[in-house]
Amino acid sequence: FEAGEIPDIRGLARELGSLGLLGMHLEGYGCAGMSATDYGLACLELEASDSGVRSLVSVQGSLAMFAIWRWGSEEQKQEWLPRMATGEAIGCFGLTEADHGSDPGSMRTTAKRDGGDWVLNGSKMWITNCSVAEVAVVWAQTDEGIRGFVVPTNTPGFSAPVIKHKLSLRASVTSELVMDNVSLPADAVLPEVRGLKGPLACLNEARVGIVWGSMGAARASFEAAVRYSQERVQFGKPIAGFQLTQKKLADMYLELSKGMLLAIHLGRMKDAGTLRPEQVSLGKLNNVREALEICRTARTILGANGISLEYPVIRHANNLESVLTYEGTVEMHTLVVGQALTGVDAFR
Ligand code: FAD
Repeated sequence: FEAGEIPDIRGLARELGSLGLLGMHLEGYGCAGMSATDYGLACLELEASDSGVRSLVSVQGSLAMFAIWRWGSEEQKQEWLPRMATGEAIGCFGLTEADHGSDPGSMRTTAKRDGGDWVLNGSKMWITNCSVAEVAVVWAQTDEGIRGFVVPTNTPGFSAPVIKHKLSLRASVTSELVMDNVSLPADAVLPEVRGLKGPLACLNEARVGIVWGSMGAARASFEAAVRYSQERVQFGKPIAGFQLTQKKLADMYLELSKGMLLAIHLGRMKDAGTLRPEQVSLGKLNNVREALEICRTARTILGANGISLEYPVIRHANNLESVLTYEGTVEMHTLVVGQALTGVDAFR
């Protein structure tokens, strides 16, 4: 986090692959075929280390691999999924543009037919893993609406300038994705989906991992706060002995426990095939918001040490600022829940 990079990201990806964590909840093609609940637990433990590591796994498995697994041709699956499952090939997912974030339907990136080929032009912004990826799943406007493309990143005209100066998710590579007349064969398009339903289905997969992962960051901060409160002595006794500190810890633990129960419940509903998108929104909205609150409260218990990278708390809090925004902002998920409750769309 401090260096703003993941040292040996390829080695890390291969290690995560060897543990079966990449595309963990997908069947076939070298994927582990575990349940959504298993995958959620893995996300929780990964994010207890750092949200950047969980982001690497989420983008690889739930966004890039899931898009190919769900909407790709058999040839696309055979070509990419086994190598992505081992971590030999890293994937990214290009949806957001500089001027079109919460409203991806307005995207400007285009894919135009040129004889049998496709030619892609435009740029995406805030793309996790892009500059280290072998393959990008890119969403673009076509004559038939929004479609997804499987783009090898060594295709001429493709570039990925790294975004610097982030104060959040620093242990995660984030880049622009620029396409200048990127020419692709006819079979580069994901054949099984048209429209925003394609990317939104992928985001829904990844959000389930975030419902769990955010609780991992919260747990790590909570545990750091408990330990610190027992060791830190002020006014002649450990600060854990003050009622105000105990109230903070009790409230943190309450929200942590509620968030964990929500994650388990939603994970089991996903495994049963009954989970609806607005329920995923509810989980993402609640758990990331509460995880951030837990980290901020933990920071107050650590006093000045709370702002130091010697402890995990401010790092988790800063990371969660990104998690609050990506995969649908807290406001967007509020509107999804509002729409489900009232039947009225308040997005526009
Ligand atoms: P905007 O959409 O401009 O929103 C700004 C503010 O306005 C927000 O508070 C928003 O909630 C609010 N707002 C917007 N519309 C409404 C409305 N109708 N009603 C009420 N409030 C509204 N994208 C990818 O495609 N791939 C990635 O791999 C990826 N990785 C990311 C990694 C990081 C570290 C970050 C920070 C972002 C990443 N993103 C990625 C982008 C992310 O998904 C977008 O940032 C997010 O969707 C929000 O878009 P925006 O930043 O353009 O904000």
